[in-house]
Amino acid sequence: MSHEELLARHRAVLPNWVALYYDAPIEIVSASGRRVTDGDGRTYLDFFAGILTNALGYDVAEVADAIRSQLSTGVMHTSTLYLIRKQVELAERIASLSGIPNAKVFLTNSGTEANEAALMMATQLRRSNEVLALRNSYHGRAFATVGITGNRSWSASSLSPVKVSYVHGGYRYRSPFRSLSDADYIAACVDDLRNIIETTTAGEVACMIAEPIQGVGGFATPPDGFFGAMKTVLDEYGVLFISDEVQTGWGRTGEHYWGIQAHDVVPDAMTFAKGLGNGLAIGGLVGKPELVDAFTANSISTFGGNPIASSGALAVLDFIRDHDLQAQAAKLGSVLFDGLRSVADQYSVVGEVRGKGLMIGVELVQPGTREASARAASLVLEATKQRGLLIGKGGLYGNVLRLAPPMTLTEEETDEALGTLRESIAAAHEELSR
Ligand code: PMP
Repeated sequence: MSHEELLARHRAVLPNWVALYYDAPIEIVSASGRRVTDGDGRTYLDFFAGILTNALGYDVAEVADAIRSQLSTGVMHTSTLYLIRKQVELAERIASLSGIPNAKVFLTNSGTEANEAALMMATQLRRSNEVLALRNSYHGRAFATVGITGNRSWSASSLSPVKVSYVHGGYRYRSPFRSLSDADYIAACVDDLRNIIETTTAGEVACMIAEPIQGVGGFATPPDGFFGAMKTVLDEYGVLFISDEVQTGWGRTGEHYWGIQAHDVVPDAMTFAKGLGNGLAIGGLVGKPELVDAFTANSISTFGGNPIASSGALAVLDFIRDHDLQAQAAKLGSVLFDGLRSVADQYSVVGEVRGKGLMIGVELVQPGTREASARAASLVLEATKQRGLLIGKGGLYGNVLRLAPPMTLTEEETDEALGTLRESIAAAHEELSR
């Protein structure tokens, strides 16, 4: 089947709202290390890792061996009605990594499913469907999670089982409080949180859910300590706090294992997915036992934590620990960050460089202004692709470059990507300055 035919068949049978990257979408047919190869034999350095799913990169022998070893038993999965040794081991590992005392774990197949479970647990425990979320958030594509997604282009439905109120804080670059110092910014957001609870809720808020760094929202990064200050108010009102670590978990932010640790708080629960499986479908939540055990009826995720996914995920966690990938994310993340800052100094099409570790956002604007430029992002995306580099795009206005390579990245690959980004951003700057 030709590439053109595959694209035509994709368009005919898959929903219209499934967006494909690039003017000429690619099919990845093989991959190794941090590089992927398309059907025409072109190779790309992958700086988006499938929206952070491939935390370790491709073709990782240890993960493949773990999956193969499970396959050799003949059991891919039967049912979560039976004991699954690998699932128990994985849950224990995640609980011990969480920093949440006596934590319990529920395993799912995706981030959406994890957040739906977290919302259901919190609303059941607190007997209220009032929920707080950050503006510019993304938490998934099912009914409740769409209802708390603060980004119109991803809010597929206005109908929702939860009553959400949005608070300020995640997206500082376009916040009315942006010109304040870190401390004053946090204070303004804390005031806003209190005001929102007092004015838009009946005072029975079940939980606040937030991404420590907003992923789909363009790697928008609040100042360190932000969530600690917010949690003081939440505690006053008895509101549970759920950290959505679907993008920020597993050491990617470098300084910490979980994104929320930059804020000196222990959340009531954390949700996760993506990088844990290095490409396998697995997600879940880890939380305080009184929250995770809040369901009073039976509940099941048929495939959640199945033997294949759990075996692979355990191998991923071993690999992250054994190769100290968190330190690698910190080290190469800062090289990338500094390099991009110097690009920003040279080209005013870059409005801001932000993020932590190997999760770096580049906000693009019409040169010399603060006006969001989706066109700049599209130009850079196409230009980097032409030069053999895959990157991500996001943000409320589709104007943010998202860089999130596998955490096994090397120095040479970091330099290569920086060179490509510099050239591509320079070209976009020139084009938009004409
Ligand atoms: N939460 C966050 C922060 C995410 O980025 C995503 C996916 N982009 C989700 C939840 C939903 O995860 P999934 O697509 O695995 O359902």
